Amino acid sequence: MPFLQFSNVDYSYPTGDKDFIQALYSVDLTVERGEFVALVGTNGSGKSTLARLANGLYVPDRGFVTVDGQSTGEKGNLYDIRKKIGVVFQNPDNQTVTTVVEDDVAFGPENLGLAPAEIRERVDWALECVGMSEYAKSNPARLSGGQKQRVAIAGVLALKPELMILDEATGMLDPEGRAEVMKVVTRLNRDEGMAVIMITHFMEEAAQADRIVILKNGRVTADGRELFSQPHAFTDAGLELPLTVRLGVKLKAAGLDLGLPLDADAFVAAAVKALGGDE
Ligand code: ADP
Ligand code: MG
Repeated sequence: MPFLQFSNVDYSYPTGDKDFIQALYSVDLTVERGEFVALVGTNGSGKSTLARLANGLYVPDRGFVTVDGQSTGEKGNLYDIRKKIGVVFQNPDNQTVTTVVEDDVAFGPENLGLAPAEIRERVDWALECVGMSEYAKSNPARLSGGQKQRVAIAGVLALKPELMILDEATGMLDPEGRAEVMKVVTRLNRDEGMAVIMITHFMEEAAQADRIVILKNGRVTADGRELFSQPHAFTDAGLELPLTVRLGVKLKAAGLDLGLPLDADAFVAAAVKALGGDE
């Protein structure tokens, strides 16, 4: 049984008495425990709607969503489901609720009604995981965007979710902040076995995932492990592939496989090495 399963899911937003906007059409998707999936698509393609269906914030109009075998359509399952799936959103400023970092991270576990000693342990662990232990007593408002987002991730981690969904969580960060967050996420996936759905419009970030899912106008149009070798899957969905990825695909076709995809520096280093250079 997959950890997360969407089966034939439709979802619409009511916009008036009889009007609605259909955001998702017949979505089938599974995510296994420990998997790292990137979800990409242009604005309005349905990514955030999908994230909200995954943790039971919305319920499908048709089809079903299950988490660990439990349907999100049953109200009695939602407490379990929201403990198992944590979501980090785009704007870190909207995700802090207190004026002290560690209180902020403790907010979720407190709402779960955990014992104080257990909360303390989880908060320390979560801050350690994101490399923010030394800021435990700081005011979140004084932190950089990347640091704030790492605190938001710690707040979700303190719930010990089995799957973390990051909904354009790096979208408002500078390149340095993005790199900080990506480092934390890839480490949590690798070392803690946490499943990740990374919703992003940065293809270099998507490239870090085991698998890529493409949404276009509310439909899944591609889902696979080797998608970067099919650039049309991206361009057909209105997504642009970075030059490094496009070049790498061409080189691979020409017989020089650099083990795509990579960021620009790693790409150049791999090319130099493959060509017998001294890197
Ligand atoms: P993405 O996250 O990929 O940008 P969304 O899931 O936010 O896409 O939106 C999918 C579609 O649903 C879009 O057409 C969007 O306009 C519409 N939509 C999203 N949220 C609402 C809402 N609260 N009310 C009405 N329509 C919405
Ligand atoms: Mg969105």
